[in-house]
Amino acid sequence: MLLNLLEYHWAEDIDQALLLLARTDVKTVVLAGGTHLLGLDDDSIQAVVDLRDLELGHIREDATSVYIGAMVTLQNMVDAPVLKELATGVLARATQASSFSRVIRNSATLGGTLAIGAASQADVLTALAALDAEALLRSGSRTKVDLSAGTVERPGFALAGVTFNGKLERRISCVNLSHEVRPNELIVEVVIPRPAAGAGASFQRIGRTPTDVALLNACALVGIQDGAYKQVRLALGGVSMEPVRMQGVEKQLEGQVAMNEGGTTINTQVLVSALQAGMADFSPPADFRASAGYRKISGVNLAFRALEEATTISRWRNMVSSKERQ
Ligand SMILES: Cc1cc2nc3c(=O)[nH]c(=O)nc-3n(C[C@H](O)[C@H](O)[C@H](O)COP(=O)(O)OP(=O)(O)OC[C@H]3O[C@@H](n4cnc5c(N)ncnc54)[C@H](O)[C@@H]3O)c2cc1C
Repeated sequence: MLLNLLEYHWAEDIDQALLLLARTDVKTVVLAGGTHLLGLDDDSIQAVVDLRDLELGHIREDATSVYIGAMVTLQNMVDAPVLKELATGVLARATQASSFSRVIRNSATLGGTLAIGAASQADVLTALAALDAEALLRSGSRTKVDLSAGTVERPGFALAGVTFNGKLERRISCVNLSHEVRPNELIVEVVIPRPAAGAGASFQRIGRTPTDVALLNACALVGIQDGAYKQVRLALGGVSMEPVRMQGVEKQLEGQVAMNEGGTTINTQVLVSALQAGMADFSPPADFRASAGYRKISGVNLAFRALEEATTISRWRNMVSSKERQ
């Protein structure tokens, strides 16, 4: 319960929301779906800014990227045809797995999920990390200054109480976004670059039951060209942990031959060696659900399965597109 809440603002446009968030005398926070915020026991929050009327509920695409507004609900993401297509649908599937309650998915937004990060326990964070997603953040400020004009010899007009409205925009990676976002910043949208044509992707998770939070999840994106790994992205995450990109594994694999001789089976030895070397530093946390050791060993297996499936999909896509060209 927010027991000291004094003000509720229904923002009509982004600039208004930014100016309210920029206030330093009243602690003001964003209200999106409210699934997390309204359950908080935080006496310091004095005002909320409701974003529901801002035009942040879009999912649009162009040739290079897909753009998802911060107020898009998790259920909208599950249902969106463009996300079912993007990267073989891993984002839509990870969003569905984020919360098996449709009631929650209907309210919880992408912006709210990114803002609280690991506390949301959402699988979608791992998929966003693997897809190189970036968030567009905007902040605003209003500064009042008194300008004296001219000199003593040649006086000009003195302007008192001039107000400058300033805006700042930056794009940062969705990995660890919850630690980067400042209190006066609004997450406006998420930008996901389109993977190369022919890339394959896979999302895998382990939970105590199919509908429970993920003890561990993995998302891989693989692009193969001429039988070799051209692009590899791998992220691991799960409950109680921020998603981490396995850049060691990615670097080990890129440029390596993906298939065995004959080109019909995956070179699993290359995958195993890359995972052993690249995941040596992977140190997941322990909690009452699973030990760090369990998560580390399972993480290697899960990453293997994700990379194997993504590689298979990429290989098939390349075969189909080369047949179409003939
Ligand atoms: C009982 C329960 C169980 C849940 N379990 C899960 C689960 O297992 N998995 C899961 O994914 N989710 C779960 N959720 C929902 C979870 O709270 C949401 O996934 C999401 O994290 C919150 O989204 P929201 O839109 O409701 O955000 P809000 O509750 O409105 O806001 C959350 C925080 O983010 C900030 N914020 C919101 N939008 C923005 C923005 N655009 N820019 C800057 N800051 C912003 C707010 O100020 C606030 O601090 C659960 C919720 C409940 C009530």
